[in-house]
Amino acid sequence: MSSSIFTTSKGPHLKKRQHSSASVHSRKSETPFESILNLTTCHLCKKDMCCPKHLPCIHSFCEACIEFYVQQIKDTKSSSHVSCPVCEMPAATVSNMSAKEFAENLPTSTLISTLMSRKCASSPSCNRCKERGREAKASSWCGYCAQALCDEHADYHRDLTTTKLRHPVVRLKEMLTPGNFEFVRKCKYHHNEEMTHFCKEEWTPCCPICAKVMHKGCTVVLLHQVAINIKMDPSTMRLRKAVDTLETETEKLFQGRMQNKKKLDEQLKLEQGRLREFREKINTHLDELEDNLATELDAFHTQKQTELEKEAKAFKTKNNTLNFYKMLLDSIQENSGNTQAVQELAAIRIQTKAMEDEIKMVSTRLKSIDITVEYPYDLVKTTTRLGSIQQKVAHIGRVGTPKSTARSTPRSFKS
Ligand SMILES: [Zn+2]
Ligand SMILES: [Zn+2]
Ligand SMILES: [Zn+2]
Ligand SMILES: [Zn+2]
Ligand SMILES: [Zn+2]
Ligand SMILES: [Zn+2]
Repeated sequence: MSSSIFTTSKGPHLKKRQHSSASVHSRKSETPFESILNLTTCHLCKKDMCCPKHLPCIHSFCEACIEFYVQQIKDTKSSSHVSCPVCEMPAATVSNMSAKEFAENLPTSTLISTLMSRKCASSPSCNRCKERGREAKASSWCGYCAQALCDEHADYHRDLTTTKLRHPVVRLKEMLTPGNFEFVRKCKYHHNEEMTHFCKEEWTPCCPICAKVMHKGCTVVLLHQVAINIKMDPSTMRLRKAVDTLETETEKLFQGRMQNKKKLDEQLKLEQGRLREFREKINTHLDELEDNLATELDAFHTQKQTELEKEAKAFKTKNNTLNFYKMLLDSIQENSGNTQAVQELAAIRIQTKAMEDEIKMVSTRLKSIDITVEYPYDLVKTTTRLGSIQQKVAHIGRVGTPKSTARSTPRSFKS
């Protein structure tokens, strides 16, 4: 077998494992075929993937789609940071490589390629012929393109593909025999070496060179030894359980956030009502204060007017009396005899003296009366807001994950 990422597997155990995987991987709500449909659709073009490639988050896309996506980032955002278009997980910086290089160098989604071959198993027709509006029975499968090929296109494909090593063409019949062919990745550091070893410490496949150099001191075994029972291995069960638990937890957290979001909307309406209510309360209070002050002002004015009137009246009476005395004095001059005049003048003198004393005394006490109101203008200046927004925080509770999560989520599954 000359293909680079396909390798013939030996032993009947693979067939057995194929069956057990079906129950492990199919979701409750989807039939296996629906889940395959879902997995093989490119998130960018919404079609079946062609040359499926995956980012570190394992989300897959057509190689051409991811190239176009990266080119767009470079052109429009003039940024070199690429994040996954589905989950937004940072994938890479592409400052010193072209979009084409980036897409080409991404690892092939081998599982997607396998799923695609299963999908076309019932009616295998050549994808290349279909692109040209023809129908031809497919006989081969390109693992890189994830496409079925007719004899003619298979030959053509083998001859023309410049990066021949990357496009492993196998007979479709062999491809469709469960467990007969498996993808084995090449080392990203040693491009000619297959990942035939496995570091148990870091739970990652590696090439023989990496096994000797980078995993010196680690427990390294052959990949196929680990592979024999991997699907039924407790670590796989733990991983499955951890993924399930985390899925449930994130669903719960999502629902919680959505509920909180809805609650905030309700609280906004409530608070808008309370703000209007508070404002009305202030208005009512200010109306009352205004009324009180106006009444007070009125009362004060009336009281002072009454006082002034009373005083004015008293002075007017005195003024009339003095006018009368003036007339008396003139009359005495003209009509009284001298003796009589002495008596009458004495009486006027006593009254005048008394009045003089009284007027002197009253006039020193007399003050002009003005009305003016002092306003607490500071109140306006110091009241800068009607209220302050309080964020009440309550802990929702710890997300419970089984203790085994850390151990059962090996690095190889994360990247
Ligand atoms: Zn696509
Ligand atoms: Zn992603
Ligand atoms: Zn064809
Ligand atoms: Zn190909
Ligand atoms: Zn290596
Ligand atoms: Zn190691």
